Amino acid sequence: MSIKKNLISILETMPKEVTLVAVSKTKPVTDLQKAYDAGQRIFGENKVQEMTEKWEKMPKDIEWHMIGHVQRNKVKYMAEYVSLIHGVDSLKLLKEINKQGKKCDRKIPCLLQVHIAEEDTKFGFDAEELLAVLDNPEFSKLTNVTIKGLMGMATFTDNMTQVKREFKSLKSLFESVREQSKEMEILSMGMSGDYLIAIEEGSTMVRIGSSIFGERN
Ligand SMILES: *Cc1c(COP(=O)(O)O)cnc(C)c1O
Repeated sequence: MSIKKNLISILETMPKEVTLVAVSKTKPVTDLQKAYDAGQRIFGENKVQEMTEKWEKMPKDIEWHMIGHVQRNKVKYMAEYVSLIHGVDSLKLLKEINKQGKKCDRKIPCLLQVHIAEEDTKFGFDAEELLAVLDNPEFSKLTNVTIKGLMGMATFTDNMTQVKREFKSLKSLFESVREQSKEMEILSMGMSGDYLIAIEEGSTMVRIGSSIFGERN
């Protein structure tokens, strides 16, 4: 299957209100260009340096999403161009994004990552920590970030009942924090293996890599 055909067949399975992030990590720009030529304009990467190299080479109407774990000392390299940072998992990181946003005179859109999986390996806030951050007085002073919503990753398992349950819990947390903050409109959940369930459970943004570009090495 070609990248273009993969993209088209995935888009056919999705409601048009759901946003597709094409996860292009580890893939060469020639592959990204194929997706671009098929109409895709939003790409997700998980390493700041790799994303920046691709941003420099690719057309400038692309939205670049950072979907991976971000180290604070790397924020400065993407601050001027990144469209959405999905994996914000600490107030410290958010403060650094705010600082770099201020330097380039922009408000950087962010999602707060929530830990919904059973595995310990996934980053993110738990529900209680998330509410504490949103209530923290320091948080309301951050004028150069906007919290556009939440992001989560389900457990890597064939047990779709479990995956569904984890997505449901994130959706319900999203609904409750939304009541406080009207800027929250994005719920980023779902990858190649579970995006259809994620959409059923209320995802507004899916991050799909291998089903578009093929398996990664
Ligand atoms: C790699 C990655 C994806 C895409 O995974 P696929 O299974 O290839 O679709 C989605 N989200 C995050 C955070 C990732 O790191």
